[in-house]
Amino acid sequence: MVNGLLTVNSAAHGTFFSTITRSSVTECIVDSLSSGVIFLDVTGILTYMNRAAEIFLQVFKETVLGKRIDMLPLRTPLYKVLSEDCRDLPVEMNICGRVLEIRSSLLRSPENELLGNLVELFDVSKERREKRNREEFVAKMTHDLKSPLMVMQGYVQAIRLGMLGDVEPRLADTLRDMERSGKYLYAMIEDLLDVYRLEMGLVQVRRKECDVRSFLEGCFRDRQLEADENGVTLTLRIPRKLPVAELDVKQLSRVFANVIGNAIKFTPRGGKVTVTAQIRNDNLLVEIRDTGIGISESDLPHIFKKYFRSEKVAGFKGSGLGLALSREIVDAHGGVIEVKSVEGKGSSFTVVLPLHEQD
Ligand code: ADP
Repeated sequence: MVNGLLTVNSAAHGTFFSTITRSSVTECIVDSLSSGVIFLDVTGILTYMNRAAEIFLQVFKETVLGKRIDMLPLRTPLYKVLSEDCRDLPVEMNICGRVLEIRSSLLRSPENELLGNLVELFDVSKERREKRNREEFVAKMTHDLKSPLMVMQGYVQAIRLGMLGDVEPRLADTLRDMERSGKYLYAMIEDLLDVYRLEMGLVQVRRKECDVRSFLEGCFRDRQLEADENGVTLTLRIPRKLPVAELDVKQLSRVFANVIGNAIKFTPRGGKVTVTAQIRNDNLLVEIRDTGIGISESDLPHIFKKYFRSEKVAGFKGSGLGLALSREIVDAHGGVIEVKSVEGKGSSFTVVLPLHEQD
């Protein structure tokens, strides 16, 4: 009996020991990978993180393991990475001075049982640096397009204003159309340049003290003419008093121009676009709601990706860069931009911006 017990014990001990050894060796291997590895179980709880992931995301695994994504502090690199939908396509993000390519996939056992979600992080900074030279060439080309365009715009405007002689009414209309198309082309070139600059970390957010109310009123006024022309009612609902904040108004004007502009563009005549603002927990929350064409469930995860345009907007002008650029700018402010939409009913975009720079 003693012998039997011993046999059982040693057998058990042997199995236990070899399991430990195998799992710790596996852990050592995964820990020494140059790519980051994070694992979330089927309930969304973070159960594993290797050393590279800790370094890339500047986090100690002890502080986050055992937590669900929604329990993680917002705006941390880890939250940003895990809240990204990158199951279909890998996503690139600027995180803590590195360019990370993020891929996620469902992990299954050999019996095809779903085990959880595996997130992999690849540091592609070096490749991107090399790519930068090529991209700078493209950026330079794009930039060079702006100068002749501005000269042309100047002439068109001078003719329209009668500075070079009398202008027939019919010609005045044509000149106005030419000017509008020129402005549109100029804005597209700017967007293209800015997306490249932001992606390469060449644009820095320059926060300055500003009056939030007059800033939002300005953004709203800038879109009024567009709304009138499209037969859309544009309403601004903001509290009488809004605090002073430190924001990069130049960059953020582009965000609101894009998002309010889209709401107007994708809302048929007779529809409404409402912009509301409020302060919550030291954040400025701006919601842009429209009663427009809406976005299908399958398109929603893609609308912030560069060049993405849903099939049904083929007849509308656009480059598919506006939202990608907006998200980069909001991200650089430490904020978030989110969307909810029901196809055929309308969309609601929410921009959340910390009023002051976060530590
Ligand atoms: P675009 O230049 O096409 O407006 P954006 O990057 O601004 O590019 O938007 C990407 C796509 O997201 C649009 O082409 C459209 O399919 C969808 N989208 C954005 N805003 C709205 C909205 N308010 N209503 C419906 N679809 C929208």
